Amino acid sequence: MSIYINHDHQGIWKYDTWLPRVSPENRITMGEGNTPLIKSRTIAKQLGISSLYFKLESGNPTGSYKDRISALGVSWALEQNRRGCVGTSSGNAGASTAAYAARAGLPYDLLVLEHILEAKLMQAALHGARIRKVKGFGDSSTVGDQVFSYIEHQAKKKNWEVMITAFHYNSIAMQAVKTISFELFGDLNGHPPDAVIVPVGGGGLCTGILYGYKELKERKIINHAPSVVAVQSDGCANIVRAWEQGKPNPVPGDSTSSISGLQVPNPPDGWRILEAYKNGEGWGESVMDEKTWEWQEKLALEEGILCEPAAAITLSGLEQAVRKGRINKDASVVCILTGAGFKDSDRLRSVLREKPAIPLIEIEQLEVESGGTG
Ligand SMILES: *Cc1c(COP(=O)(O)O)cnc(C)c1O
Repeated sequence: MSIYINHDHQGIWKYDTWLPRVSPENRITMGEGNTPLIKSRTIAKQLGISSLYFKLESGNPTGSYKDRISALGVSWALEQNRRGCVGTSSGNAGASTAAYAARAGLPYDLLVLEHILEAKLMQAALHGARIRKVKGFGDSSTVGDQVFSYIEHQAKKKNWEVMITAFHYNSIAMQAVKTISFELFGDLNGHPPDAVIVPVGGGGLCTGILYGYKELKERKIINHAPSVVAVQSDGCANIVRAWEQGKPNPVPGDSTSSISGLQVPNPPDGWRILEAYKNGEGWGESVMDEKTWEWQEKLALEEGILCEPAAAITLSGLEQAVRKGRINKDASVVCILTGAGFKDSDRLRSVLREKPAIPLIEIEQLEVESGGTG
């Protein structure tokens, strides 16, 4: 079996028969999706597994997979004659929605945490979003509730679209995440991998990939879906803890993780992942942030891939799953590398501080080193 791909369209719209209907004139695209799937050259061997692939979501127009969601969400907003978009974001969704809203000519009202990463904020600002940082948002749950109720009221009153990247808030826009599963089907010539490793914050990405495979199974395009593995930081492992304890809902608790994008104390789509896991569709791994910093560096040094920590966490999770015997040596595995490394410049600077400083030299100091092939 194969999946019908509409080659007359760009980006996620190649899969338009699988997505909510949007008329062609309202489809906003910048070629999102269709990201490369590349094979590991060194890390697979080190982990002792036979095939490991990286899906490079940094290849999206604003540098993260959120562009898939923004493309559909903003197009849907046009289709519904909405006058603008309003939402919150830990960074990437804001940068992405801002770009697509700018392209659609819609205003975008964005409320963010006080300590959002500068690079992600600058992206959103350059695309003209109206941004406000809210004191206490992210720490206090009452402030959080007030922010969400503002967004819902604002959206209703002004006929704007709510752009928050969770099925709980925008189940239409989130359908676009399924295109990751569809693309993997084509990339691997119709053979689903044994496991797809996914970073988890609010849980929407993991849910969308699970739903994508579910649909491929329901339409009898595949017989077996891969295990979809949710990786969370130890400091914010609310879904993994719930899975370990057999609970249907995320275990509440504050976040102490320092990984941007994964600090979500109340993941709105967590229960959806836990429901799928009850049916054996995957499992959770929680890992220390220090491990993730190591993997981020290793990916850059050994595979040439500079991704943000929220993406590198998939390698920490994979390493742990292999060690625990949850993934076999002969398995084929895909890690979803969700965002580009330049998104977290603070992190990059702190890595470089531990390396020898880059010297500034006089031209006379340049001398040809002996050895090599000359
Ligand atoms: C948003 C995001 C995630 C987490 O996705 P959720 O749907 O919130 O679980 C992971 N990595 C990156 C780079 C992100 O931007």
